[in-house]
Amino acid sequence: MRILQVASEAVPLCKTGGLADVVTALSEALVERGDEVTVLMPAYRGTIARAGATPAFELGDPLGLGHAARVLAAPLDDSGATVHLLQCDALFDRPGGPYGDEAGHDWPDNHLRFALLARAAAQIALASAALGGSIDVVHAHDWQAALATAYLAWWGVGRPATVFTVHNLHFTGRFPQAILPAIGAPSSAWSPADLEFYGEASYLKAGLVHADRVTTVSPTYADEIRTPEGGIGFDGLLRWRGDAVRGVLNGIDTRTWDPASDPALSIPYDAAHPAGKRDARAALQRELGLDPQTSAPIFGVVSRLTWQKGIDLWLGGAPAVLAEGAQLVVLGSGEPGLEQACLSLAAAYPGRVAVRRGYDEALSHRIFAGTDLFGVPSRFEPCGLTQMYAMRYGTPPIVRRTGGLADTVLDDDATYGAGTGFVFELPTVEACTDAMLRAIGAFRDPGRYAALQRRAMGRRHDWTASAGIYRDLYLEAAADRRRVP
Ligand code: ADP
Repeated sequence: MRILQVASEAVPLCKTGGLADVVTALSEALVERGDEVTVLMPAYRGTIARAGATPAFELGDPLGLGHAARVLAAPLDDSGATVHLLQCDALFDRPGGPYGDEAGHDWPDNHLRFALLARAAAQIALASAALGGSIDVVHAHDWQAALATAYLAWWGVGRPATVFTVHNLHFTGRFPQAILPAIGAPSSAWSPADLEFYGEASYLKAGLVHADRVTTVSPTYADEIRTPEGGIGFDGLLRWRGDAVRGVLNGIDTRTWDPASDPALSIPYDAAHPAGKRDARAALQRELGLDPQTSAPIFGVVSRLTWQKGIDLWLGGAPAVLAEGAQLVVLGSGEPGLEQACLSLAAAYPGRVAVRRGYDEALSHRIFAGTDLFGVPSRFEPCGLTQMYAMRYGTPPIVRRTGGLADTVLDDDATYGAGTGFVFELPTVEACTDAMLRAIGAFRDPGRYAALQRRAMGRRHDWTASAGIYRDLYLEAAADRRRVP
């Protein structure tokens, strides 16, 4: 099959979260199965040079607003997948992040930037059909790409099948009604049956309404978003779409995330040769200025520091585990109040708590390897990748039972010693603290902890199964398309 993935980020070119990992890892897995995959994403500043991309074709002025665009092509990585960078310097070549400036304010023209991405995707898909080259499926990810499914549905005739994946329902891409003419939406789009969502236009909703198949990134999250509590206003629509909505568990890129070959570690290790983990642990303590104790359990967190991620629950549990002699490591950035709370804890416990603010890919690898237990105490979590990275690095995770965390981590107490981590139920400091203390109990029992690590490292999280499910979904969506007159 020929598949066009449309997304606002993909490693190694641009990453702010799990979306970037997933787009690339899924593309690689599909290529391995024999499919032809192209990822279309914006040419943010520096990406053309980093990718070594060369001009491929012109797109004219897709939105008709004087924003000429063209596509440059390069290999995405060494997998055989291709990246198409959408160049429109007026919209994408600027300092700061993909969605906002350095101060964290969204770009005021995000409605145009991501309408252009979506419209370019639709234009490419339809042109390829006209040229007989035929893209079979356009797979759009999150609100930034969602309009691609709408443009294709609005323009109809000869379109390929569409799949839309929700990586986080809370990012709804909402804009005032007034932007609709500028993005070329037909007047019928302003309707509760289309883009209208509580008085605004939601790009996310475009994908939920128009894609032939809608997926989200874990089976449990797929159930949660169909309830009034988890659906934040979209649950009725999601229930109405019935069997077209599926939960497909994300995998991880097991080549990038492999302690046996990770260039960030000086001594590689795996379940059969765990000595390198002790080295990684001591090196991390040295690097972060932590006391060089071997008996203190080290808890790690690598996360956006936001309410969603339950960082306040984790900080609430910190005094109890520090009283037990634990050490804490946090890498992340996000809401100023939570950043400050982390920094204050580090100031209060020198040598025991280390906090690094910001985004640091290499340090994140060293934390997955160099800590003993890993926290993902999210209030909600569509899938979550870090608990899977932690397991692969022999660092049992402590997670809340929600979304993909519920689908990937087994509680070691609840399974009478057959688990891969620790799971708590309620989003409260008490429940989180209890799980952290239970984890310390396991850490202090060397035989139990070693067995827990082995089970965690033995779990398979690669993309093989899920890429197969996506492929079946693509075929299903394409078959549906053929039935439409
Ligand atoms: P989300 O996409 O909601 O942020 P995920 O767990 O799906 O959560 O993915 C987060 C990704 O971003 C993981 O690959 C994680 O390792 C990475 N990450 C998060 N914060 C940082 C950070 N401060 N430095 C390096 N990597 C980070």
